Amino acid sequence: MAIDTPTRYRCNACGNLTRFDVTTTRRTKAFHHYTVGGELVIEDPELLDERVEDVVCRWCSTGSAVVRVDAADLEAADPAAFGRDATSAEADGHPER
Ligand SMILES: [Zn+2]
Repeated sequence: MAIDTPTRYRCNACGNLTRFDVTTTRRTKAFHHYTVGGELVIEDPELLDERVEDVVCRWCSTGSAVVRVDAADLEAADPAAFGRDATSAEADGHPER
């Protein structure tokens, strides 16, 4: 699973897994393509650098208890948080007892 798994967070204070205010600084490069009429079309956006500055729990309004978690761990721990059926995934490796 090397493909772009989004960063997941968990608030240890209230158990929130889904609502966070994330402050990010991004440095990007893009081709700004203007038409003769002066209209701008932004092409080939490229992410050069990305820093997550702050993650704050929406429920607690504090980031002090928010931790970064591995999406795979999170899925194993609380499949319901992903809004999909986890039993199908489990059936692959673990047939019925
Ligand atoms: Zn919280």
